[in-house]
Amino acid sequence: MQKTSPIEILQGVFGYQQFRPQQEEIIQSVLSARDTLVLMPTGGGKSLCYQIPALVKDGIAIVISPLIALMKDQVDALRLYGIAAAYLNSTQTQEQQSHIMTQLRNGELKLLYLAPERLLGREEQFIEFIKTLNVSLVAVDEAHCISSWGHDFRPEYLSLSKITKALGPAVPTIALTATADDLTRNDIAEKLELDRPNIMVTGFNRPNIQYLVKPKRNTYGHLLEFLSSRREDSGIIYTLRRVDTEELAEQLRNDGFSAKPYHAGLERQVKDRHQEEFLRDETKIIVATIAFGMGIDKSNVRFVVHMDLPKNIEGYYQETGRAGRDGLPSVALMFYSYADYFTLQKLVSIEGNEEQSQVMEKKLKEMADYGDLKTCRRRYLLQYFGEQAGPYCGNCDNCLNNYEEIDATEIAQKALSAVARLEQRFGANYVIDFLRGSASQKIWEGHKTLKTFGVGAELSKEDWRHYINELLQHGLLKRSQGQYPVLQLTDQSMKVLHGHESVTLTKAVKPSPVTVGEEHPEVHAELAVQLKELRKMIADSENVPAYVVFSDASLQELVMYLPATEAELERINGFGEVKVKRYGQVILEQIISYCKPLGLTSQLPATSLKKKREKSSPGETHFKTLELLQSGKTIDEIASARGLAPGTIESHLDKLIKMGKLRAKEVVSENRINEILKVLSNTQDVGLRPIKEQLPEDFSYGEIRMVVSDHQLNPK
Ligand code: ADP
Ligand code: ZN
Repeated sequence: MQKTSPIEILQGVFGYQQFRPQQEEIIQSVLSARDTLVLMPTGGGKSLCYQIPALVKDGIAIVISPLIALMKDQVDALRLYGIAAAYLNSTQTQEQQSHIMTQLRNGELKLLYLAPERLLGREEQFIEFIKTLNVSLVAVDEAHCISSWGHDFRPEYLSLSKITKALGPAVPTIALTATADDLTRNDIAEKLELDRPNIMVTGFNRPNIQYLVKPKRNTYGHLLEFLSSRREDSGIIYTLRRVDTEELAEQLRNDGFSAKPYHAGLERQVKDRHQEEFLRDETKIIVATIAFGMGIDKSNVRFVVHMDLPKNIEGYYQETGRAGRDGLPSVALMFYSYADYFTLQKLVSIEGNEEQSQVMEKKLKEMADYGDLKTCRRRYLLQYFGEQAGPYCGNCDNCLNNYEEIDATEIAQKALSAVARLEQRFGANYVIDFLRGSASQKIWEGHKTLKTFGVGAELSKEDWRHYINELLQHGLLKRSQGQYPVLQLTDQSMKVLHGHESVTLTKAVKPSPVTVGEEHPEVHAELAVQLKELRKMIADSENVPAYVVFSDASLQELVMYLPATEAELERINGFGEVKVKRYGQVILEQIISYCKPLGLTSQLPATSLKKKREKSSPGETHFKTLELLQSGKTIDEIASARGLAPGTIESHLDKLIKMGKLRAKEVVSENRINEILKVLSNTQDVGLRPIKEQLPEDFSYGEIRMVVSDHQLNPK
């Protein structure tokens, strides 16, 4: 392969059309032999930043990577691109290792992946060996592991500077991480002894991830609700405690989900098996402690749920960043309760290390603040990493549920007098039940005769919880310290109670209409199913996870654009020369055999389509429509709220159905579905018109299309 420039390698070998932000600059920095420190969010495309220089330069690149599981996948993926790569770690036999040593001596490899644990105790020996090789660069992945200021310190990383020093200044080091605050950043440069490094910070924003926080009550019920529309999706659910992973996975299995646990206490074989099944899409949901996921390079993770409060924003952002690496819409949901903050306080402090305990406690507080946040969550996260962002992202719960200010003096007075009547001795839940006049046994009989009992019955529990949180934030109430915090009054509360001061709080309102028009090419769901099966077959025969063969983003383009020749296939994202040569024929055969009987031809536009990827996947506009639908609005109501035609709304819903995000029965009544299906089963023709003609007048094309799409995706 005579490729020399980075862009030629990007296009020819990896099959991508353009560099992502900063990739090219980073690659140039490494090629000019400068030490380089890269901060790029998970999914941003860090790997190419060293893989491409490794291919441009003569010699071999050494890649330090902390997790063995990751290494194998990365090396497998590189081999599928036709790149000579190998790894060395403790799981290999002596024979395998000496085979790789021979390849190294013969200069047959371009990249060697190494676990730092391998170096411990035998750095000298190893350094002597690599000095005999022609090393092109050293890449240190997950570089924050070298810093005790970071959140995942690994002492074995400390010996890495010996390697970089021994190789001399002509061999650049590139250190990469997805999460590092300023302190950690400087520490990485220092501990790795980087020489005047170029520091490259890429935008941390992950626009395709939606951030949601839900109160931690009836958590399992809410989780089921969340999962019910995502049955086909891969996701990770994080819990704090090991036992919870096993219990929750079992509960989910009983409720018909494919879920497996993962935590550090499980036997090695069990862990490996569960991880492997997850990577291969045989298990949809992995319920894990944070021991899971570092270096998991699975591109089609559609959601990440945190059942408990994470210990810091760095960890949280890294964990949520595992969603949506393929750029498709994904969700990060966190269940939050203030009680978690209390529990975790004990866990984050490090005995005998006052200084570091304080760092960790501050980080925990910042995490809890995120849970309480009433403004844009994305903005808060980005600002945490030192990035500016606008006040409204339109893709977090706070932005989606725009809040409006209301005069809440009366609401506040009711809540405060309830706290006063209950002698400041009860927690928020009790106060709320009391306000709502709950018949519950938990309310003391004596309290049921108080004048304030039941004065807040017109508001829901959720509303009260929201207002009480706001009163806490405004300093009109406070929580006592300790294991069972109770609500207490403050000096300020008295003024409100005595009617000397009015109170303004916020109230959730429905999103305001935003209009975005879009064109949607047809998606062929049936073909998607066939191609997924084919992908699985290829993956199994190559012994790699399915997304390594081609990603879901590539799959979407295949079914949308129906490439018919190898040249056209090369224009699909993720198909480089080698992949097209290797699998092109079978993939094309599958597409053609689907298209022929339907009279379909290639839909590839004359201009390059690799750039158009973003637009063709369901975007914000679709999810706004979904949100409104799920809030109980009809298609006509959504259309008028959004200033769009009902037909456009139907096409949004159809797209969501094709993406498996929605079922037709959530939109169309059962009777009408049955009528449509009855006609469908008696109709040989392709296309909607013959179906429409056999149905009563009032059936719309949009309705019929949704039911047909749903039926194609979920036959039976
Ligand atoms: P990170 O290591 O930063 O988490 P990866 O290197 O695993 O991210 O890249 C995430 C995904 O993005 C991979 O599927 C990768 O192939 C893809 N990718 C990287 N660079 C580009 C690019 N320039 N164009 C399209 N896709 C890319
Ligand atoms: Zn937002």
